[in-house]
Amino acid sequence: MSDQNKIIVRFPPSPTGLMHIGTMRTLLFNFLYAKQHEGNIVLRIEDTDRERSKQEYAEDLFENLKWLSISYDEPIFYQSKRTDIYKKYLHILIEKDLAYISKEATAEEGQRAEVIRFRNPNKSITFSDVIRGEITFDTTELGDFIIAKSANEPLYHFAVVVDDFEMGITHIIRAEDHISNTPRQILLQGAIGAPLPIYAHLPLVLAPDKSKLSKRKHGEFVSASFYRKEGYLPEALVNFLALLGWNPGTDQEIFSMKELIEQFSLEKVQKSGAIFNIEKLNWINKQYIKEMESSAFHEMVLKFLPGEITDDKDFQKNPNLLSLLEPILKDRIVKFSDLAEMAKQGELQYYFRAPILQKEKVCYKKSTLENTITNLEKLVSLIKSLDSFTQDALKEAVDTYSLEVGRGEVMHPMRYCLSGQDRSPDPFTIATIIGRGETISRLQVAINLLKE
Ligand code: GLU
Repeated sequence: MSDQNKIIVRFPPSPTGLMHIGTMRTLLFNFLYAKQHEGNIVLRIEDTDRERSKQEYAEDLFENLKWLSISYDEPIFYQSKRTDIYKKYLHILIEKDLAYISKEATAEEGQRAEVIRFRNPNKSITFSDVIRGEITFDTTELGDFIIAKSANEPLYHFAVVVDDFEMGITHIIRAEDHISNTPRQILLQGAIGAPLPIYAHLPLVLAPDKSKLSKRKHGEFVSASFYRKEGYLPEALVNFLALLGWNPGTDQEIFSMKELIEQFSLEKVQKSGAIFNIEKLNWINKQYIKEMESSAFHEMVLKFLPGEITDDKDFQKNPNLLSLLEPILKDRIVKFSDLAEMAKQGELQYYFRAPILQKEKVCYKKSTLENTITNLEKLVSLIKSLDSFTQDALKEAVDTYSLEVGRGEVMHPMRYCLSGQDRSPDPFTIATIIGRGETISRLQVAINLLKE
């Protein structure tokens, strides 16, 4: 592709808060489009609002982009460092009488300040949007709008238009809430002699009740970093975000980044709002978790398990524990922060440490001490007699016996003695993870307790 035809898109976030998940979706679409066409991606931090812009929010953005493997070109531009460039263009417009300085009353009584207004030619603007088709606006009602508070303080519309021109942006792919800004920006492009870029206005990301996803209403769910902290996988979040407004037109739901770059198309982006459905994200995340390689899975488990578990000597003792737990955990969790909840509920500890039992909880419902002791002793002897201590062999032996005396009579005390919980995954799983010796030992502790 010759340089003349090179596609250049932009990431223009305003660092006034934690990165919004909807903005992340917009950046992803820009990224996919640019990568597909071997184009460039300009990252431009729009920090002209000096009071609200903070470097920490820019850092949050960089971290999220890195986490999601959404890359961009260097250098990174900061609008706050480009005042001289905007000033140059402001002067040109004033010189050509396309803009003028106006002394106006301010909010403070008796005070007047200078602002720079654009001399609106008051025409009808029509542009073609890749997603929405032709859009026409009458710009008369915009009047002579303000483009700078002073020569050193350009406003958003002006800075964006100058930057898009200076940076050679060919495609402006942004959310629908910017449609109404477009006619103003097209007028300014005409004034500074910039060519008309191609526009694609993406549907907004909405909550399930179709309200706008806002921090006030939806709290931390709107920030991209929340998903990182909750232990979603970056590949899963990218996959989910790609489907927020884009539909491949097939049944495929799981996409690698490579497939997204190949298959993405602006033409298949919908016009109507894209609903953010966390259930769908959970489902996608689960698919990715199931497919994880053991080493990567173990690394994430260790990162998300609370310190009280990872620092526990009993936990550290068995080097195979994570491998043994892997299928159970892959089955149970939707995101890695679920591990903390499991630990809090005591659903992990029994895999590496014998529970402390309460005598009155060992017997099933109204079963007697004698019956329970008999059943536990029978279990011990069954376990000792097995040739190999596998889950299937154990289950078969125990099932045969429990059919005779009643399932609950055997399964309840077995489950409780091994886990200290009324509910736990099936006791055969626990038994084979902790091993034959430990299983017998836990059952024996209960027998002794009941005989006290
Ligand atoms: N900085 C603007 C925002 O974060 C984006 C401007 C644009 O896409 O033109 O909303």
